[in-house]
This record gives sequence, C-alpha cells and structure tokens, in this order.
Amino acid sequence: MSTVDNQPANNFIRQIIARDLETKKFDGKVVTRFPPEPNGFLHIGHAKSICLNFGIAEEFNGVCHLRFDDTNPEKESVEFMEAIEKDVHWLGFEWDKLCYASDYFEQLYDYAVQLIKKDKAYVDSLSAEQIRQYRGTLTEPGKESPDRSRSIEENLDLFSRMKAGEFADGSYVLRAKIDMASPNINMRDPTLYRIRRVHHQRTGNDWCLYPMYDYTHCISDAIEGITHSLCTLEFEDHRPLYDWVLEQLETEHHPQQIEFARLQLEYTVMSKRKLHQLVAEGYVNGWDDPRMPTIAGLRRAGYTPASIRDFSERIGITKKDAWIEMGVLEYCIREDLNENAPRAMAVLEPLRVVIENYPDDQVEQLEVANHPQKPELGKRKVPFSKVVLIEQEDFAENPPPKFKRLVEGGEVRLRGSYVIKCEKIIKDDQGNITELRCTYDPDTLGKKPEGRKVKGVIHWVSEEHALPAEIRLYDRLFKLPNPDAEANFLDALNPESLKILENARVEPGLAEAPSEARFQFERKGYFCLDAIDTKAKDKLVFNRTVTLRDTWSGSN
Ligand code: ATP
Ligand code: MG
Repeated sequence: MSTVDNQPANNFIRQIIARDLETKKFDGKVVTRFPPEPNGFLHIGHAKSICLNFGIAEEFNGVCHLRFDDTNPEKESVEFMEAIEKDVHWLGFEWDKLCYASDYFEQLYDYAVQLIKKDKAYVDSLSAEQIRQYRGTLTEPGKESPDRSRSIEENLDLFSRMKAGEFADGSYVLRAKIDMASPNINMRDPTLYRIRRVHHQRTGNDWCLYPMYDYTHCISDAIEGITHSLCTLEFEDHRPLYDWVLEQLETEHHPQQIEFARLQLEYTVMSKRKLHQLVAEGYVNGWDDPRMPTIAGLRRAGYTPASIRDFSERIGITKKDAWIEMGVLEYCIREDLNENAPRAMAVLEPLRVVIENYPDDQVEQLEVANHPQKPELGKRKVPFSKVVLIEQEDFAENPPPKFKRLVEGGEVRLRGSYVIKCEKIIKDDQGNITELRCTYDPDTLGKKPEGRKVKGVIHWVSEEHALPAEIRLYDRLFKLPNPDAEANFLDALNPESLKILENARVEPGLAEAPSEARFQFERKGYFCLDAIDTKAKDKLVFNRTVTLRDTWSGSN
C-alpha cells in the first residue's frame, strides 16, 4: 500500500505531499510553517491551519516552524506573540524553530536591491491614491507609472536613501516591475516596500521602511527551507507573485504554495478587526471571553485541546469554501466531556427542602459514582443532611403533563440518595415558594421503594455543606448564522449570550478542583472552573462549556 492510500481521503494536501515524498521532490523532506501575524489572538480558524501544518509535519516525519509574520508593527505586539505561543502549545504542538519575518529584514532588503539591479523593481513617487487609480480594474488594464522608467542607478540611490530615512512616510514606495496589463491585478507592479516611521517590537527604530506581506512571505519561506507553504484560498491569486519573486531572485530553494479553504463557522465572526472591536468596545470581557471564537476563549469556556484537534480533523481540508455549523464544534467537545469529565452536582437556582423525618444532626457521607459508565473513575463522598437544596425548576406546584419531577404529594429520587416525598409547600407573603417540607423513605438508599414506582431523579446538594458558586451560562455570541452578512455585524449580537447565576451551590468536593477542571453538572451541562475569576472573587466561578444536548433553536 502506498503512503497515499494510508491517508484519510478528506485531505488532498496529504496526498500531494505523499506523492512528493515518493518522487523525492525536496529531497524527501517536509517542512511546514504556521505564520500568524501577531496582531490579535488566535481563533478557531487558525486552529485549523495549526492542526494542518503541525499535523502534516508530524505525520510525514517533517518539522513545522512557528513564524511570526511581523512586518506591520503598527498593529502588532509582544502580548499577542506570547498569547500565540501559549495557544499553539496548549493545542499540543511544538515547533521545531521559532522564527520572525523581522529577522530577515536585512536579507529582504538585499534581495530588493538585487531586484532593482535586474531592473525588476523601481522606486515610485505616486501617492497611494494614485497607485490605486493607475492599477485599473478587473476589466480594464492598469496604467504605467511615470516613474517606471527610472534608471537602475537612480532607483538604487533612492532606495538606499529611503532606508536611510531621508524621505517622509508615504513619499516613495518600491514596486515590482511586472505587468500593468496583467489580468491578475496582483501582478500589476505590486508594492514591495513602504516608508513607515513606526517602532517595531523587535527591531526598534532600526528600520523606517517595511516590506509588504507578499514579498516577505515567499522569501521567508525560501530562507527557512519550507517545502509546502499551506495557505488559505484567497492567496491563490497571489501565487503567481509568490513564484515570480522567487524566480527573479533565483533562490536556491523554491517552496510550493498550496491553498485550502478557510474555516467559516456559523454564529461567529473571525476577522481580527471585528474581534478587536468586540473587545475594545466591551461587547465581551476580553479576548479570552468564553463566547469568543479565540483559542483563549474556547479554553476558558472549557474546550479541551483534543476536542479542537478532533474538530479540525472532522471538518477536513478542501479546496472549496463551505460553512461549518457551530453544532459540529459543540459536538466535538460534548463527545470528549461525556467520555472524560467527572460528574458532580450543582444546584443553579436553589430551592430549600427540609426533610422533616430525618434526624436533626445526622450527616451521611453517600458514595456517588464519578461517571455512570466508567467505574474506573471511582466514587466520591457527598454529604447528605436534613436540609437539601434542589433546583427550583425541579418542583412544580401546577405540573404540566408528564412532569416527572417533584410535585406536592409526589415522590422523587435524590440522585445517589433517598426517595423523598413533598408534604407541604411554604410560601412568603408575596406567594413565592420559599421552602418545601418533605419526608424521606429510609429504606430507599440504593434500593427501589417497596410497592410503588418513582420515576424522577433529581440532583441536590446539602445546604449546610454546599459551597456558594457563581455560574455563568454562556450561549452563542450571535443570534444569526452569518453576522458578516449584516450591514453592521453588531446587530447580530445575541442579547442573551450570558446569564449569570450568583446563588448557585455546588457539592463541597469541588473546593479542591484544579484550574480548568471540567465537570458534567448532572442534568445541567458541562462546566469548567474559571480559575482567574475564582481567585479574583474568592468564590467558585464556573463557565458553561456546552449544554448536555443540542438544544439551540436559533430563535432566542
Ligand atoms: P486577518 O483577519 O488579520 O486577515 P488572518 O486570518 O490573515 O487575519 P494571520 O495571522 O495572517 O491572520 O493568519 C495566520 C495563518 O492562519 C494564515 O496562514 C492563514 O491562512 C491561517 N488562517 C487564518 N484564518 C483562517 C481560517 N479561518 N481558516 C483557516 N486558516 C486560517
Ligand atoms: Mg493575514
């Protein structure tokens, strides 16, 4: 069986690489890279690219670099770099080399001089606006700049003076000399360098001219010996430029650019500009808000690295744009947590239940399984006493048909404990139910009651022992599948994306939960301890990762 046949069919890139290995293209090597611009936090779309690049390297005994594409210092920062490194590690990947496009500034400059010497680049004094006008349109060819015929000597002189800081920002650019009539607009003398007096987070004030993305990217790939430069489909039209630059420079190594469809996920946005806006204008509480599609947000919501890798694998790699339903991502984390998260009891909106025939000072430590299908996860002790708290919604004074929980005069089982019967409802002056008086059947611990059926099972905590907790019910940040389609994406925000329950109570064992511990709160969903806010508030804070089932209707 050839390597090709071994690969999952959903990935045409694996097939290309397997073939390249067979034909000994690139001497049988595989070197990939993940090249983020450090101008924001990574999101789930980046995760797709990370899993692809690092995954391919792992699979084919190759290596993968993490390369910061840091050529646009206005928008970039060290904070973003640190967050990116943390996120890639958290996803479970290790780079072979940590690289920075800014490390190549000197080489990039020398290469530009080479292009000028070959008469393949020129210094242009047209303004940005004029360059746009001269560029033409999809149906009309562009117009040549008057500076296009500048002599090589003059270009060399001007370019070195651009570097020396003799000219104002925006006064000159360096452009490739390709073809103003090309049907591909990217080939109409694209800009290679612009003058910008901005402090760079790594090179300080050494440079006042910075190279453009298209020019930098292909050369960085060539310098690092990248074999397969995997990028998203919008760069397909840039590939002729990628190849042109490397051909002109006759670089020793010429990577192969391969494009794949970017992840488009429903009910969210992924443009960094929009994510910045959500953070800056306070629609969310930071880049790591659990509603954000960022890796940091997903982590804080309780997503596991494995669930995100599983998601990336499931959606596959194709050449065609497609929308992925949010349900697919939610499915992946639900599967993981259903399998692996220990169970715990938490009462989100408590109602007091006094068990009148239970001895006043008695406390029983009941043994409850941590996972119904996994005895190997063991049991824990949960205290039971005379006063317990149950969920308000698990009692109904006027029950709807088929209500299987507690009603006046009816019985229900407290999970892992006894069967109780509601004898009396206590109300305050306004008629709100404040307490239930119940009795318990001492003969029902781990046993079915005699002579009658009790169908409902509800969760509970002991009032005296339970710990106060704040529980945050997160929902999708947007109420429409494609917020980008709106005139203003903010109009698509879901006004009910966060509900905070301040009076929740959880079983006492959760006091020892480590940071990022994940649980299934019985009957309520999957929750993750928010270590940061637990510390800040000196109170347990849990974030809902996902509900138990897909209950999202899209109508709220
Ligand atoms: P911006 O919103 O600023 O345009 P970007 O998506 O271009 O952001 P980069 O930091 O340049 O962000 O992206 C790094 C890498 O991640 C690129 O190789 C890019 O193709 C890939 N990537 C970005 N978004 C997605 C996505 N939605 N699906 C798959 N890959 C993506
Ligand atoms: Mg980009």
